[in-house]
Amino acid sequence: MMSAKIFVDGQWMTPVNGATLDMVAPSTGEKIGTIARGTAEDIDRAVNAARRAFEGPWGQTAAVDRGRLLSKLAQKILEHEDELTALEALDTGKALKLARNDIRAVARYFEFYGGAADKLHGDTIPFLSGYQVMILREPRGVTGHIIPWNYPAQMFGRTLGPALAAGNAAVLKPAEEACLSCIRLTELAAEVGFPDGVINLVPGIGEEAGAALSSHPDIDLISFTGSPEVGVLIQKAAAENHVPCVLELGGKSPQIVFADADHSKAIESIVSALVQNTGQTCSAGSRVLIERSIYDQFMAQLTRRFKQLRAGPHDMDLDCGPLISKVQQERVMGFLDRAKADGIEIAAQGQVDAAASAEGFFVPPTLYRIVPREHELALDEVFGPVLAAIPFDDEADAIRLANGTDFGLIAGVWTDSGARQMRLAKAIRAGQVYINGYGAGGGIELPFGGFKKSGHGREKGFEALREFTVAKTVVFNHG
Ligand code: NAP
Ligand code: MG
Repeated sequence: MMSAKIFVDGQWMTPVNGATLDMVAPSTGEKIGTIARGTAEDIDRAVNAARRAFEGPWGQTAAVDRGRLLSKLAQKILEHEDELTALEALDTGKALKLARNDIRAVARYFEFYGGAADKLHGDTIPFLSGYQVMILREPRGVTGHIIPWNYPAQMFGRTLGPALAAGNAAVLKPAEEACLSCIRLTELAAEVGFPDGVINLVPGIGEEAGAALSSHPDIDLISFTGSPEVGVLIQKAAAENHVPCVLELGGKSPQIVFADADHSKAIESIVSALVQNTGQTCSAGSRVLIERSIYDQFMAQLTRRFKQLRAGPHDMDLDCGPLISKVQQERVMGFLDRAKADGIEIAAQGQVDAAASAEGFFVPPTLYRIVPREHELALDEVFGPVLAAIPFDDEADAIRLANGTDFGLIAGVWTDSGARQMRLAKAIRAGQVYINGYGAGGGIELPFGGFKKSGHGREKGFEALREFTVAKTVVFNHG
């Protein structure tokens, strides 16, 4: 694999300054490879290559042909499913079954957007007599993509699928902590025949390659997933050049359980939506809000289930893996230490398997009982396998609590009352609301994105195609 190279204008090349970064396996702390540490000059070359591609043949490629290329890439990914699964699990530490799911999802992104490429229609508008008006949906041009380490392969498909289907040429800066699957996926994309310059990949660190991309004057849109803090930096840099942004910045998503819900079904979903990817999921259901009348009984069941959870290296394929890095491990342990100092009681903890390396970045899955509503565990994104339980009094209280953080990404509502389901769906300020279910991970077809600090713009589904295009109004005065 072309690990220590950047991919620009259809060529794997050494970054201008020749610098590299070491890649570490989170399960063991061991070095597993090196990647290129691209800088502003490399980003500049990549943006220029993308511009030439967009203004050249790629800009003239028929939608059906763009779609076919994406569909071919989907097929190619599935042909390499085992290899990509092993690479993603090693690089991120995630359990093999989850990594496999991610690789199938990235294939599905290219399949979905391959099929959608020639189905994004414009409009005509009835106007004055003697006029005809049409709305064209045109690609934005050169799109910049900055993605995080939690789902590198899935993010590759989520952000590039709609951008390329819509006819843009792209520059991708993956995360320094995990980007081996992105490098391999870029190789596969080159093999299926995307023209030179359509996909450019510049690995590197955020403050260098990422900052250079978000402040580049010749990009037409920036798509970013990551922390709210960096989201602000990206927007400020892009604002200088009047470049629009689509931002997905995480959440503190609630699972809201009413007394009349099917408790066993709710518990399975709540646990899996939290421990999936060791809690390092933007849409993790990291708060469980429970109606007071069933609080003790529900918590007893949840506690039993939590105690069974196991964390271990990716190849043991357990409920949780390690966190991505020592920094993230220390960050999550910081939340646990402060909760202890604040006297918040742990209801249950899972186990880190005895076979797990002491050098791996493990944290035991932890369930907290009755977290005060103003505590950081109730309000802040932990990005680890930590669940905060909070009782509520009635429906109005549940809605207040659900909307009571700075975030608004997704929500799960567990109740058998149809009218309440509808009221909650309307009252909750989040980009996705699930009734008697919770959708983390799935649903390439389903628009996804935030309210408030969770970001703005929409990814997935046809909404993403709209984000990666711009409407042009053409008015004919034919008399
Ligand atoms: P992050 O710093 O926001 O990283 C996301 C991406 O932005 C990475 O590719 C990163 O590069 C890049 N980046 C960093 N600083 C930048 C800058 N100044 N300009 C342009 N790009 C920049 O997130 P993180 O450090 O990996 O994680 C910190 C916290 O963010 C987590 O604990 C979690 O709460 C949150 N997070 C949320 C999501 C999500 O899915 N919403 C994903 C990851 C993290 P590097 O490769 O150098 O990091
Ligand atoms: Mg970072």
